[in-house]
Amino acid sequence: MQRVAVLGATGSIGCSALDVIARHPQRMRASVLAAGSQVDALLALCRTHRPDHAVIADGAKFAALRDGLREAGLPTQAHTGEDALDALVAGDACDTVVAAIVGAAGLRSTLAAAQAGKRLLLANKESLVLAGELLTRAAHAAGATIVPIDSEHNAIFQCLPDAAAHAGLARICLTASGGPFRGRTRAQLADVTPAQAVAHPKWSMGPKISVDSATLMNKGLEVIEAHHLFGVDASRIDVLVHPQSLVHSLVHFVDGSTLAQLGLPDMRTALAVGLAWPERVASGVGTLDLLQHGTLEFEAPDRAAFPCLGLAYSALEAGGTAPAILNAANEVAVSAFLQGRVGFLGIPALVEDTLAALPATPAGTLDILREADRAAREHAGRAIVRIHDRD
Ligand code: NAD
Ligand code: MG
Repeated sequence: MQRVAVLGATGSIGCSALDVIARHPQRMRASVLAAGSQVDALLALCRTHRPDHAVIADGAKFAALRDGLREAGLPTQAHTGEDALDALVAGDACDTVVAAIVGAAGLRSTLAAAQAGKRLLLANKESLVLAGELLTRAAHAAGATIVPIDSEHNAIFQCLPDAAAHAGLARICLTASGGPFRGRTRAQLADVTPAQAVAHPKWSMGPKISVDSATLMNKGLEVIEAHHLFGVDASRIDVLVHPQSLVHSLVHFVDGSTLAQLGLPDMRTALAVGLAWPERVASGVGTLDLLQHGTLEFEAPDRAAFPCLGLAYSALEAGGTAPAILNAANEVAVSAFLQGRVGFLGIPALVEDTLAALPATPAGTLDILREADRAAREHAGRAIVRIHDRD
């Protein structure tokens, strides 16, 4: 029986993971569920999945979790705080960890899972952007298997099953849906609203990644993610817009072969791959019928209208602390956009300004990266206050 810790259980990826796990009661079960602050949603999941442990990050909600579990007559133990989460992730309570907390807040638990040698289903791409080298090195040292749970990277993972295939790799091509604003000019992006930005045409996802998809920062973060996961330089990673979101990415080999992975846009496929690999289990996702979809289209990304993609490539090329600064400034900017404090074009502007203000330095340790993350948040936060006061 595979015991799975689902971190970010109340989110979009968390719910998809629990859906797949519940389809295979003979083979796997959710033993740990963790969420940020939505205690009612977490309690509802505990009633359905009956985990051994439930963790709420927000300490103010701990009593509600503990009392709710008791009232429901569940044996689930309640916990709060990052130390408790790290201990559960690293300890005996689970074999597999679904890292699906959003943002840099997921770094500690993701790293704890890697250091403990767990099977790590890594959705929390921000932790790879922030500390990719440390994370992949820790996983390697502890013998942890990382299965990427980003549809593009999961596709590449499936196309590159072993070191022998990897040796013949020429280029990687990440596909992008183009988001809800594909085809718009920069001027046409000035007044878009948060509601329009989170209404993704193909994927149903949490608000932060939906905005990242709309700015193309998501694809930029994914370029950095691919670099760390597959050891490929920025110059060998391409981005191709594919509005149907059926081809999830492509791998070109030195012999002229190109492999791609296709499927309906539903994250349960990637999660089923991660949970069962190298076996295959049912995910609830139907079989792709290409006749029904007809045409597959591809186009180049519009880097002028969506400058976040280029900013991410530049940060990867600059190296050191630059990706951590990019990620932190973006998290602050997206949160401000969702709160109506800056416009859509303010997101790339804030990221660019923060990268320019805080030059990259070598990033050998976690402390250096954490300090870069903190400084970038502070800088971007101050810049938002200035914009807000000015407007
Ligand atoms: P979401 O907003 O739907 O869910 C986020 C989850 O994280 C929630 O359960 C929330 O309670 C939890 N959380 C937030 N802060 C926390 C904290 N400090 N401690 C503990 N838990 C905390 O987000 P999502 O769309 O599920 O995305 C999760 C991650 O997966 C992101 O890193 C995203 O980039 C990545 N991802 C998502 C998709 C997708 O289809 N949704 C695809 C690829 C990658
Ligand atoms: Mg993706």
